[in-house]
Amino acid sequence: MQIHIPTPLRPYANKQAVVEVSAPTVAQALAALTSQFPELRKHLYTEEGKLRAFVNVYLNDEDIRYLDHKENAPVKDSDSLSIIPSIAGGTPVGVAPMAKAATLTPEEMGRYSRHLILPEVGEEGQLKLKAARVLCIGAGGLGAPLTMYLAAAGVGTLGIVDFDVVEASNLHRQVIHGTSDVGRAKLDSAEDSLKAINPNVKIVKFETRLTSENALKIFKDFDIVADGTDNFPTRYLVNDACVLSGIPNVYASIFRFEGQASVFATKDGPCYRCLYPEPPPPGLVPSCAEGGVLGILPGLLGIIQATEVIKLVLGQGEPLVGRLLLADTLAMRFRELKLRKNADCPVCGTHPTVTKLIDYEQFCGIPPKSAEPAAVVNGVPQMQPVELKRRMDAGEDLFVLDVREPYEFAIAQIGGHLIPLNDLPQRVRELDAGREIVVHCKAGGRSQKAAEFLTQNGFKHIHNLAGGITAWSEKVDPKVTKY
Ligand SMILES: [Zn+2]
Repeated sequence: MQIHIPTPLRPYANKQAVVEVSAPTVAQALAALTSQFPELRKHLYTEEGKLRAFVNVYLNDEDIRYLDHKENAPVKDSDSLSIIPSIAGGTPVGVAPMAKAATLTPEEMGRYSRHLILPEVGEEGQLKLKAARVLCIGAGGLGAPLTMYLAAAGVGTLGIVDFDVVEASNLHRQVIHGTSDVGRAKLDSAEDSLKAINPNVKIVKFETRLTSENALKIFKDFDIVADGTDNFPTRYLVNDACVLSGIPNVYASIFRFEGQASVFATKDGPCYRCLYPEPPPPGLVPSCAEGGVLGILPGLLGIIQATEVIKLVLGQGEPLVGRLLLADTLAMRFRELKLRKNADCPVCGTHPTVTKLIDYEQFCGIPPKSAEPAAVVNGVPQMQPVELKRRMDAGEDLFVLDVREPYEFAIAQIGGHLIPLNDLPQRVRELDAGREIVVHCKAGGRSQKAAEFLTQNGFKHIHNLAGGITAWSEKVDPKVTKY
C-alpha cells in the first residue's frame, strides 16, 4: 500500500512523498514505515509509543480514530494511508441565514451585473453580500487575495486585524501591497488597495495583535471570520473565539508547496480542535519564514477561503464543513479528507472544558516574554547581537558558526563558518571544542538546537546568538538583508 508523507516530514523519509509498504493493518503499515525511517518514528509517536496528538492518520479519506478497529483496522494493497500533521483555511450546515441589505444603487447594479445574472447570486444574493460583515485575521499572504476578492465581490463590511508593517520579503506573495508600500502599516496599504478596487466597501481596521482579551469584543460585530494567521497560538485563539461566539471560521494554512482549507465552527460541524486537539511543540513545525513558501500558494488558498466565505453568505453550494481540502501544488493534486465533530472536543464537544479564552502562548508551549531577554536557555548562554558586535570589534578570539542553509547564507551573512544544522553531527570535527563559539541562524531557533547539541558533545564555551541574523540586521547592521 501507499503511505503519503507530508512535506514537513519528508526530510525524515529520504525526501520521498510516497512510500510503499506491505502490511495487514494500519498499525503494522506504520511500523513498517518507521522501521525503514527511524527518524520519522520520533516525529509520529510519543516516547510511550502513542501517536502524537498533532498528527492525524487517514486510511483513504477516513480518520483512523473513527474506524471500528482504529489502528488495527485491516488494510488492502490498494488502500492509501495519509499522515496529516497540523501545518507553524442549499442551506449550509448549521449556518444561520444572513441578513440582506435593502437596495442596490445604480452604480452597484452595473458593477455586479455578472453576479446579478447568475441565478445562484442574483439581486437577492448581492443584497446579502452587501449586508455581510466578514473579519479577516491578517493582511498577509492569505489575507491579500481573500480581502481583494471579497471587496470586488461586494462584501459590504470587511474587518481586518493586523499590526505588521510591509517588508520587501512580503511582496512575492502579498499582492495587496506594492513596492512603494514597504515600510507602511499593512492595514493602511491594504485599505488603499481595497478602496481602489471597490469604494463601496466599508473597511474596519483593527491595528492590534488578536488576543484573548480583545478577540470576543472584535468578533461580535461580524458574521464570518476568515483565519489567515501563520502561527499556532492565534489559530487556536481564532478557533475557540469562533466556537464561543457561534461564528463560522473559514480556515486555510500554507507551507512551502502545500495548503489545507476547511470551514470550522459551524453549528453542527467540527472545529479546528476536533482535528488537532493539541498544537505541536514549539519549533517542530517550521513557519513559512523558516521553511519558505511558494509565492502563489497563499493566492490559491486565499481564493479558496474567499469562495467559501461567499458561499456561506449566499447560502449556496456545499461548504467545506466536515471536509479538509489538501492542495499539493507541486503534484497539482487536490485531495479531500472527512472531518468529524468530536464529541470529546475540549471546546465544541458535549462537555467542553474550554469555556472561555485561555492563554494561547502558554497552551502552545511558548514561554512568556519577559522584559529582560533570557540570559540562559536550556543551559546555553544567549549572546545579544550588540554584545557580539562589541566583542568582534575588540578583536576577541570568537568563532562564529552559522547553521543555516547555503541558500540563506547567499542572501545574508555576518562572516560565520557555514555548517547547516542537519550536517552538524557529521561535520562536528571541523570545530575546535576548546574555542569560544557563537552559533547563529536566522531567528535563533535552529542555532539553539545546534548549541545544545554541541554542549552535550563536550563543547565548553558555546553561546547562541539571540534573535539570529534577523536581530543582527535590526540592532547592529541594517545593511544585512532581512529575509
Ligand atoms: Zn471541536
